[in-house]
Amino acid sequence: MTKPSIYGLPYDKLAAWLAERGFKKSRADRVWEQLYRSRVADFAEMDPALEPAVTTVLEKSFALRTMTEHVKQQSADGTVKFLFRLADGNLIETVLMRHKFGLSVCVTTQVGCNIGCSFCASGLLAKSRDLSGGEIAEQIMQVQAHLDAAGNGERVSHVVVMGIGEPFDNYDNMADFIRVMKDHKGLAIGPRHITVSTSGLANKLREFADSDLQTNLAVSLHAPNDELRTRIMKINRAIPIAKLMDAIDYYLERTNRRLTLEYILLRDVNDRREHAEELADLIGEARRSQVNVNLIPYNPVDEHSQYQRSEQEAVRGFYDALKKRGVSVSVRLEHGADIDAACGQLRSKQIAKAN
Ligand code: SF4
Repeated sequence: MTKPSIYGLPYDKLAAWLAERGFKKSRADRVWEQLYRSRVADFAEMDPALEPAVTTVLEKSFALRTMTEHVKQQSADGTVKFLFRLADGNLIETVLMRHKFGLSVCVTTQVGCNIGCSFCASGLLAKSRDLSGGEIAEQIMQVQAHLDAAGNGERVSHVVVMGIGEPFDNYDNMADFIRVMKDHKGLAIGPRHITVSTSGLANKLREFADSDLQTNLAVSLHAPNDELRTRIMKINRAIPIAKLMDAIDYYLERTNRRLTLEYILLRDVNDRREHAEELADLIGEARRSQVNVNLIPYNPVDEHSQYQRSEQEAVRGFYDALKKRGVSVSVRLEHGADIDAACGQLRSKQIAKAN
């Protein structure tokens, strides 16, 4: 049987696991330091000052590497797409992006996805399983190992939970992953440098608002009314906009933080001026100061020929209309345009090739 990844244990769980086996808390500190500061890739590399008995019990129960690099695509702009093969043979996609503010990694949380967004290459392949917290965290460790090997001293500074899958449909594992990332004794990626993106599972959104996770949150809206949103996102049938906005209001009130509404622009579908006006109405005055709209120019994929990228003029018009209404708005910069840029595209191509 495959051993689980050790990166799935937040510090407290690791300390409790070791304590159950008779080891002191200070041992957990040393193990943690080896995992996230020294970043050993093999238990044999662990500092000999750590009691050998600790390494032995860890090695018996956990793995440091549960996935292998299957494909790596490098873009001219520095974006790197990794396709990892999991122990059970499944493929997942992870993306490293270079920004002025640092290096961010977009992680996958599930093998496939059940949300069924009609524009998404990933959504074509139904969810076959959730990733463990360790498999999510190992994506970061693998990318960090890629950076460490280059020897430039670069570090992953930001994490976006926006890859394949709905993170709130794998809530507990996602939460453990975030706790591992945030821990100041380890990678110490600040909660403001971590963004979780959800299609809007309302109950989980409330749970997230009440939690200790405190990361940034992005909600995929993609349409300003139910008729259009249901066409674009199947999930809207179960959780219509009014229900989603209630959960968003709860989040805004409870956390007093800002929230991003993601809006993918699809030519002649949801990118007209009247849609922007409707969106501004939906956000309304009360929410305006806490909400930012992020416009995402669509990356066409062969499987969804019904959708095209919006004209530049339409993007500008949409942006201007929101601005005029006092809505904070940005347009997402594209990364890796010369490689399989759309989320899930690399994975679906590789799977198609194999079949
Ligand atoms: S966009 Fe995200 S939530 Fe929607 S189908 Fe794709 S992976 Fe799932």
